Amino acid sequence: MSKQVATILGVPFSTRGFRETVAYMVERIESGQKTHVVTANPEIVMMAREHQGFRSIVEQAYVVPDGIGIVYAAKWTNQPIHERVTGVELVEALMAEAGKHEWRVYLLGAKPEVIRLAADKLAARYPKARLVGYHDGFFKEDEDEQIVQEIAEARPHLLFVALGAPRQEHWMARHRERLNASLMMGVGGSFDVIAGKVKRAPEFWQKLHLEWFYRLASEPSRWKRQLAIPRFVATVLKEKWSSRS
Ligand code: UDP
Repeated sequence: MSKQVATILGVPFSTRGFRETVAYMVERIESGQKTHVVTANPEIVMMAREHQGFRSIVEQAYVVPDGIGIVYAAKWTNQPIHERVTGVELVEALMAEAGKHEWRVYLLGAKPEVIRLAADKLAARYPKARLVGYHDGFFKEDEDEQIVQEIAEARPHLLFVALGAPRQEHWMARHRERLNASLMMGVGGSFDVIAGKVKRAPEFWQKLHLEWFYRLASEPSRWKRQLAIPRFVATVLKEKWSSRS
């Protein structure tokens, strides 16, 4: 069996492929083990490198490679990550499992009309999954308590949180003991995609490994954040070469 962890700039990534990852998550949920999943791209890795508090959250989570930059970095450092495991695809696959196992699911985050639409679409697509609640992501800190309580009472098998990174990871880590969720995962812009408000790059772009470029072209305001990508590449290569000399 190949090693199950690849370390990219200090962040421990799962080396499981997509289907293996889903199977592993199902097994953990069915056996009652709690899991915090972080879908990490180069931007998240750079954030973890630069912020100690965020790094310790990521180090304790189950981190999956969301972003072609991570797959390349693994290749350059001879580590066995072979494919991307994206948040939006995990949501769909886990919802399908939720249908099979009749799991309870709670959705938190995104704008009110987006989360409503995403919940409707997921409920229609996976009628056997038990959607036990949802809440938008534009609440103030003093509403935390009420939302945490609502989730805790719902005891979801799946809790998807879309507040943007790193806020979603901090939020889950802060409340994890009380949330009563089996698997919780930050899903970034996934509800916008599911609701049909934001389009993923067409498969053609994904196959060329240019989804990040498509996203940059369609949302140019992201360029500042995407500067993390060249910084990430430069840091990975620098570490690789300095470890050789
Ligand atoms: N979002 C939210 N509350 C906030 C800020 C953002 O619910 O205070 C939602 C936003 O509507 C979107 C999601 O978080 O659905 C992800 O935002 P973004 O694309 O900025 O994050 P990323 O994809 O980089 O994690």
